[in-house]
Amino acid sequence: MSRRRQIYEGKAKILYEGPEPGTLIQYFKDDATAFNAQKRGTISGKGVINNRISEHVFTALASIGVPTHFIRRLNMREQLIRQVEIIPIEVVVRNVAAGSLSKRLGIEEGTQLPRTIIEYYYKDDALGDPMIADEHIACFGWATQDEMNDIADMAIRVNDFLSGMFAAIGIRLIDFKLEFGRVWDGDYSRVILADEISPDGCRLWDMKTNQKLDKDRFRQDLGGVEEAYQEVARRLGLLQPDDEFAVLDLDTHRKKRGK
Ligand code: UDP
Repeated sequence: MSRRRQIYEGKAKILYEGPEPGTLIQYFKDDATAFNAQKRGTISGKGVINNRISEHVFTALASIGVPTHFIRRLNMREQLIRQVEIIPIEVVVRNVAAGSLSKRLGIEEGTQLPRTIIEYYYKDDALGDPMIADEHIACFGWATQDEMNDIADMAIRVNDFLSGMFAAIGIRLIDFKLEFGRVWDGDYSRVILADEISPDGCRLWDMKTNQKLDKDRFRQDLGGVEEAYQEVARRLGLLQPDDEFAVLDLDTHRKKRGK
C-alpha cells in the first residue's frame, strides 16, 4: 500500500509523484547495497541521516550558485525535489586514491593524487556500471558536449566546496559520486545536480586517525556503520546533543518529543 503513486524504487531511495507537476518526493530508505547489490543490508537510521545531510549539502551548494534538484525537506525521510531527466552517467570525483582506482591501477589506498580526477561510469546495473570515456558519452548520445562541459565544471565546484566544508570539521574528502539531470524550459534544457550527497556516495576519512566515516564500513564489514553516519551528521551540526544516543531510532525519538 502506498500513499501516492510510486514512480521508481532504487537501492537506497524511492521516488513518489510530487504535489505539483514537475516535482517528486524522494524517500530515503535504510537499505544499503554494495558491490553492484551483491551485498545487501540495512543501516539503521541511515535514511533519516542521509536526508538531513543531503539537504544540508544541497542547500549550501545552491547558496554558492550550483543548481540542484532540491526544493525542501518535507519530514524525517522525505524531500521535495524537481523532476529531472536523469543523465545515465555516474560522475566520480577523486582527490585521494581508494576503492576501484586503487584496485584497478595498483595505487595504494590513501595516496594523495597530484590532481583531481573526474571519471564517468555508465549507469546500468545489468552491466555493473562500466567505466566510460567522453567518447562513449558523445558516441551514444547520453549527453551533449555542452552538457558534459557544464557537468565537469559543476563537479569541480562541488569538490572544491565540499573539500573545504569537510576539512573544517576534520574530515578528508577522498572521493564521491554525483548524478545530474536535465530540466526543460520550453525548447531549452539545462543540467542540474540531482540524486543525493551523503556518506553512501562519498569516502570520508577522519583527518587525524584516517578512520572511515562512510559506506566502506558496511562494504568492508568494519562495524560501527550507524555510528559513522551519525558522526558525520554530528560534526556538520545536524544532530542535537540529545539525539546522539537515540539516533538509531530517530523517527520514534522525534515523535516522542512531539516534533
Ligand atoms: N560510488 C557510488 N555508487 C556507485 C559507485 C561508486 O556512490 O555505484 C561512490 C563510492 O561511494 C565512492 C566513489 O563513488 O565514494 C568512488 O567509488 P569507486 O569507483 O572507488 O567504487 P567502489 O570502490 O565503491 O566499487
